[in-house]
Amino acid sequence: MIQFSIITIFPNMFNNIFKYGVIKKAIQKKIINIKILNLRNFSINKRKKVDDKIYGGGSGMLIMFLPLFRAVIEAKKKQKKKSIVIYLSPQGKILNHNNIKYFIKKKNLIFICGRYKGIDERFIKTQVDEEWSIGDYILTGGELPAMIFIDAITRSIPGVLNNQNSLREESFNNNLLDCPNYTRPKNINNNIVPSVLLSGNHKKIKKWRLKYALKNTLLKRPDLLNKK
Ligand code: SAM
Repeated sequence: MIQFSIITIFPNMFNNIFKYGVIKKAIQKKIINIKILNLRNFSINKRKKVDDKIYGGGSGMLIMFLPLFRAVIEAKKKQKKKSIVIYLSPQGKILNHNNIKYFIKKKNLIFICGRYKGIDERFIKTQVDEEWSIGDYILTGGELPAMIFIDAITRSIPGVLNNQNSLREESFNNNLLDCPNYTRPKNINNNIVPSVLLSGNHKKIKKWRLKYALKNTLLKRPDLLNKK
């Protein structure tokens, strides 16, 4: 089982997100477990303050070291296997299809969701094992990245998807995009499903899918073909 812990000042953002579809089932099957820690509960301040002004001046506030430190100690409690503390940060390594595999081998992942101008550098230097990003743009907080990480990692864990072929047949596997797919009805305003897909000839269908996966990749993401 993978234990995910999320440290956030907005725990309610996670109230519903994991109650649907594949993630819900993975929790029910005890393949993953998700624990949400409210950072404010680890503040030593009477008003549960977790942020303060930035030394040197400038706009915005910064999350302080101590509440984060205390929250991580709590997240690590009762964990027999090594925990990895991940700071979700635009300065981190960018998540992609290939590095998802790295996470499915881990047992305890603790995600730190920053807010405001981010978090105190000394926490990053001394308590964070890895910094990860979801892309080269700035969000208001690490909560959406935490959701994205958990969703993407969970669906890649063997046994989570009912049909494991789905993993192989999807975009980015083998540096190709998925081929076009169709469902009923056969005909929409004379736009008809390619006949080979209705032929029942699995060899021909496989060949067609590869051809159109290549075409899709060439048209939409030619950069992926350079990696092949
Ligand atoms: N001052 C920081 C910088 O320029 O590197 C950005 C702070 S951002 C406004 C607030 C928080 O959102 C960050 O601490 C981080 O947790 C999260 N965040 C923003 N963009 C992100 C991204 N692309 N990937 C992961 N987390 C991100």
